[in-house]
Amino acid sequence: MEVLNQLTNSNHTSSLANLIDVHPTGFSSILKEVDITQNALTYIEKLWAAYYIWMGNDILATGLLFFITHEVMYFGRCLPWFIIDHMPSFNRFKIQPTKIPTDKEQWECLKTVLKQHFLVEALPIWLFHPICLNLGITFGVPFPSWKTQALQIGIFFVCEDFWHFVFHSIFHYGWFYKNIHKIHHKYAAPFGLAAEYAHPVEVMALGVGTVGFPILYAYLASVNPSIPPVHLFTITLWVVLRLFQAVDSHSGYDFPWSLNKFFPLWAGAAHHDEHHHHFIGNYASSFTFWDWLCGTECGTLAKNRREKNSQDKAEQKLKKNL
Ligand SMILES: [Zn+2]
Ligand SMILES: [Zn+2]
Repeated sequence: MEVLNQLTNSNHTSSLANLIDVHPTGFSSILKEVDITQNALTYIEKLWAAYYIWMGNDILATGLLFFITHEVMYFGRCLPWFIIDHMPSFNRFKIQPTKIPTDKEQWECLKTVLKQHFLVEALPIWLFHPICLNLGITFGVPFPSWKTQALQIGIFFVCEDFWHFVFHSIFHYGWFYKNIHKIHHKYAAPFGLAAEYAHPVEVMALGVGTVGFPILYAYLASVNPSIPPVHLFTITLWVVLRLFQAVDSHSGYDFPWSLNKFFPLWAGAAHHDEHHHHFIGNYASSFTFWDWLCGTECGTLAKNRREKNSQDKAEQKLKKNL
């Protein structure tokens, strides 16, 4: 257990090792002992360390952590959207206000997504810890600084969005659309739960972008000591934020306080709702710039921007000719 090794390297922690030998299953006593002996750690770091020590099996601990985090965060994030779908006062913020999902639609979607989680994602998740060990992904305590973590998560967001843009565009071609991506487009007006309503091949292909870039980053850090290594907690945080983004972009709601109103490069729900509405364009998920750069924007906003650009060009041409 790497976490235990890191903790017991300290002079103050011999009692911790003893305690774990005597009470191997008492999570609260382990947490208390970590708390007493490791004052420099934050509460989350103490919880993290106590969890790995309590589990006593790192592969199982990482696999379970990923699976439970995915389930709790995905369905937990869908719940507020499900609730406001039943509150007419929120209808004015709905992007397609006449298309409120029925309970039956949401229930059918929930069953399919749950089945998928257990059949498709529950298996590869257990391979993650051995990959971490091979590539030097750390999982001890303390965690890296928040600045390092924020920078790494920012890199994952931009790279994964490009992966998503490319594969999503491919999934809109003939055979791929008909046989794979059409399932995800069942809902022309999406809702939170529909974020992962997709063919298993699509889930796996897009999922590679989510776990692949942290793995690639870890490989680059392992061959280049000037790159700070990535921590498993950072990867967990990244997966949670990406899940929130996926659910929110399918929510069907655009508020005056939504992030895209303050940070225009952020796609938000409006960008992806347009994609479901028109079945074409707006292939990226997190940011607007990949579609802007590749000329694949769709919807009213894109139309207005295109019209403004051609108007500006026409005015410039007229000025030159005068
Ligand atoms: Zn699509
Ligand atoms: Zn979608």
